[in-house]
Amino acid sequence: MSSRISILGSTGSIGRQSLDVIAACGMQVAALTANSSVELVERQARQFNPELVAMMDEQAAADLRVRLADTQIRVAGGMEGLIEAATLPSADTVITAVVGMVGLKPTLAAIREGKRIALANKETLVCAGELVMAAAQEYGAEIVPVDSEHSALFQSMQGCRDRGEVKRLILTASGGPFFGWKREDLEGVTLEKALKHPNWSMGAKITVDSATLMNKGLEFIEAMHLYHMPPEKISIVVHRESIVHSLVEYCDNAVIAQLGSPDMRIPIQYALTWPSRIPGPADPLDLLTCGPLTFAQPDLESFPCLPMALNAARIGGTAGAILNGANEAAVGLFLKEKIGFMDIPRRVARAMEKVAPIQSPTLEDVLQADREARRAALTE
Ligand code: NDP
Ligand code: MG
Repeated sequence: MSSRISILGSTGSIGRQSLDVIAACGMQVAALTANSSVELVERQARQFNPELVAMMDEQAAADLRVRLADTQIRVAGGMEGLIEAATLPSADTVITAVVGMVGLKPTLAAIREGKRIALANKETLVCAGELVMAAAQEYGAEIVPVDSEHSALFQSMQGCRDRGEVKRLILTASGGPFFGWKREDLEGVTLEKALKHPNWSMGAKITVDSATLMNKGLEFIEAMHLYHMPPEKISIVVHRESIVHSLVEYCDNAVIAQLGSPDMRIPIQYALTWPSRIPGPADPLDLLTCGPLTFAQPDLESFPCLPMALNAARIGGTAGAILNGANEAAVGLFLKEKIGFMDIPRRVARAMEKVAPIQSPTLEDVLQADREARRAALTE
């Protein structure tokens, strides 16, 4: 069980819920990081008394240094600061809860120190899954998923001694706020509507990804890497209620699922306590009031981000980094209301056409693919 934890991205949705779990379970905080949310990170630092706080934004780091001058807490800045937070010797576990592929370098650094990685930052695996999983193996670092679907798969495989017995991983998808909508209706989607998720309260980027279904595509690639599964052994089913968090079908056709109320604190806590379980702050599931559980096919025609991601999954190599880089850039434009909702898949498609993927990439190849994809997606 984790006892001293560093959180990369402590001011975000996952970061804040992680601190809830840490407080409820009596664990310690070694380091916190954020981009620029100085006020919130200051409050967190005063409450949890970490050794180090790192701000990606150097100006924010300077500001925080002044604010925390009356404490013993050290403040670092930039990517170096993030890496220092990820590799702090006193921490046994690092929760990777930054948004986007900016999490890749600190995650790799933490892996090289043999830390347990409680992995929320899925973009890291989508971009560089082969490199990250190989490094985890080499340095003996455990990667325990925080993403609810992957945690459900992980939990449903706890009794499995031979992964060869797994026939299929079944990822559930809420379908997002526009389930049942057709392409022509989706053209008019506003930022405000896209930011309203029916079941989960999350950061802006992942909420938009959930609305385009890109999130499920990223999760498909994440599952391939985490569980070393080929794409043909993973399927996606829409489950509007977000109660069944994912399922594993075995060779004897037994299906094991994990259920729970839609509360990220359950998978966050499990990533910290695995292989044990302890009482936690999340609400219990009441089967009698959660309503009927339904399952449906995803609509690949209306939501083109999902088939594009499945295609990138089949291609492999840097295709994931190209898909992700283009998506991060396009979603960034949508969040600034510079482009429309359906321009997101159009921009991603353009980048996928323009940038040629390569196989067995190095870290530099991945970073290069990411840069080229962003450029292609940002060009008018
Ligand atoms: P948020 O946007 O809520 O939080 C992002 C965090 O990362 C904040 O602490 C933010 O700091 C920090 N950050 C943002 N940009 C940078 C940057 N350029 N450099 C360094 N730090 C940065 O995101 P979420 O918590 O929703 O998501 C985090 C990750 O977890 C994502 O990869 C997401 O896909 C994944 N995830 C999230 C789930 C959820 O329920 N939210 C569920 C499953 C997975 P600041 O506050 O200063 O901007
Ligand atoms: Mg998820």
